[in-house]
Amino acid sequence: MAVLIEHPTEGLILFETGAGSDYPEVVGPQISDIFARVDYDHSMDLDAQIALTGHSIKDIKMVIIGHLHLDHAGGLDFFRNTNIPVYVHELEIKHAFYTVATGTDPGVYLPHYMTFDIRWVPFHGSYYEIAPGLNIHHSPGHTPGLCVLQVNMKDSGTWIFTGDQYHVKENFEDDVPQGWLARDHDSWVRSHQKIKGLMRRTGGKVVLGHCWDTVRRLGIEFAPKVYE
Ligand SMILES: [Zn+2]
Repeated sequence: MAVLIEHPTEGLILFETGAGSDYPEVVGPQISDIFARVDYDHSMDLDAQIALTGHSIKDIKMVIIGHLHLDHAGGLDFFRNTNIPVYVHELEIKHAFYTVATGTDPGVYLPHYMTFDIRWVPFHGSYYEIAPGLNIHHSPGHTPGLCVLQVNMKDSGTWIFTGDQYHVKENFEDDVPQGWLARDHDSWVRSHQKIKGLMRRTGGKVVLGHCWDTVRRLGIEFAPKVYE
């Protein structure tokens, strides 16, 4: 899932990019077999979905990545040699480059978008207000540098996009950890408690990275639908 934000002072901001249109070819047959792409056509590509909103992918001023796994950052291909800043937590950039260079944890970070022609911009610490109304919270566990994005909207309230902190609703609603999908179990539990507190404090809608049940429960609609 990718989220396009039209910010009143910063312009178009993209949160995550999805896997990229060439996903099956770049990940290879083993991963493509386990995590198969289904019900796909080119109208679902990142640039095509952005075009549905009346914007062009070329108009994006800033990209924020929650974590750099291939299904959230593979679409960074679009931003090579563009000089558009790609904001990622310091610990995630270090971990992703290390993993690609050494072959540890193979298959989850891929070299085709971990390149030096992307304008990487790190941020640090546990919390960063990247723009008015846009707050990034470091939530390690699934990966060392995973961050969730809190978006405060005028009419639709607060949205909390959690990426792979949660894969299915049971992780979030029933406090069931991720098993082997969390690389650091204890950190995951601490991040989970923080996000639940954030939800209670803001009344925010918590959107999970891979859960259609939650999308249906929240009634989330996709482009060209706009939330104010
Ligand atoms: Zn992931």
